[in-house]
Amino acid sequence: MTDLSGHSAHLAPDTLTVAAGRPPREHDSPVNAPIVLSSTFHETVAPTSADRIYARMSNPTWDPFEEALGQLEGASLPALAFASGLGAAAAALSLVPTGGVVVIPRHAYGGSVSLALAEEARGRFSVRQVDIADTAQVLAQLNGASMLWLESPTNPMLEVAETAVLADAAHAAGAVVVVDNTFNTPLVCRPLDYGADVVLHSVTKYLAGHSDVVLGALVTSDAELRTKLTTHRTLHGAIAGPFEVWLALRGLRTLALRMERSQSNALELARRLQAHPAVELVRYPGLPEDPGHERATAQLKGYGGIISIETAGGREAADALVAAVRIWLPATSLGGVESLIERRRRQPGEPLTVPEALVRLSVGIENVEDLWADLDQALTSVGR
Ligand SMILES: *Cc1c(COP(=O)(O)O)cnc(C)c1O
Repeated sequence: MTDLSGHSAHLAPDTLTVAAGRPPREHDSPVNAPIVLSSTFHETVAPTSADRIYARMSNPTWDPFEEALGQLEGASLPALAFASGLGAAAAALSLVPTGGVVVIPRHAYGGSVSLALAEEARGRFSVRQVDIADTAQVLAQLNGASMLWLESPTNPMLEVAETAVLADAAHAAGAVVVVDNTFNTPLVCRPLDYGADVVLHSVTKYLAGHSDVVLGALVTSDAELRTKLTTHRTLHGAIAGPFEVWLALRGLRTLALRMERSQSNALELARRLQAHPAVELVRYPGLPEDPGHERATAQLKGYGGIISIETAGGREAADALVAAVRIWLPATSLGGVESLIERRRRQPGEPLTVPEALVRLSVGIENVEDLWADLDQALTSVGR
């Protein structure tokens, strides 16, 4: 790997997305790291701890991606790739001691909450669900906590937490702080700077960015935690496939441009949606009226590419809207180049505190006028 340590701290994040994780500059060597498809590696007579040994433990294709993501998050150690975001979440939750307490947002990625509740149901640890925007409520729940799980803005309500304040209090209570940074990407927020111990990514979303990969990652600067997470990955086997990691690094190269466009599209659409008679409420931290606006402005380098709206005609209007769009794709997931739209409560596991009429928009990189014209015609048709 090209050694960027030393000067990587001085490189802008949008340079790092392109420059990090390149092979060494040697004559005739490739500029892109190759995909290595081998389940095992040549041994030497005297093995060392640095040996690759077997591809469940280590794979050369992981290295450039893990280097690049670690540097982007400002970590002193490379990231760890996992088979999926939830594979990474399972490894992170393994840090909770048996009998411990996990404090987690009531609105957060459904899979993470379901996994924590499943662990609680089988007696592994207990779970306290909180309104993450209500700092006093979270602080009151941190007593005796072993882990604070943060997601900010939350899925799909886009609530914004006071990350640094909560992380400090969690540390004082002896808890490990995990921040799911999927919605932000390291270009919008670096949670390690706000006190996170472990950062989680569903690489499936913005980092890979093309809705063609399922992949996850964890990032930490704590060597002891990283060793535990690596051991969990090796023993539980939720390892990343080399092709997926290669695609994710390819996607990462254009992350800055994709984020810039998604975010500028999202801000413009949020403003126009706010003025549309068929829309009752727009949740987007970039809008000055949004309850999370002040915190988002202080903590984030952008407002993200996700908007949640509530249609004026309730659930029926929301379903009709999703059925009436032609460019927006009705599908779950987010963070790809293409714009996706989904009424969240159609998912059986969605919390009942998420309104029936809530439609989540993952804003892609298409031309904003085409995206707006499509939404406007669909909203106008259901508004009638
Ligand atoms: C999708 C998602 C996950 C889960 O990731 P997978 O790659 O689908 O396993 C976790 N957190 C957030 C915020 C997500 O959007």
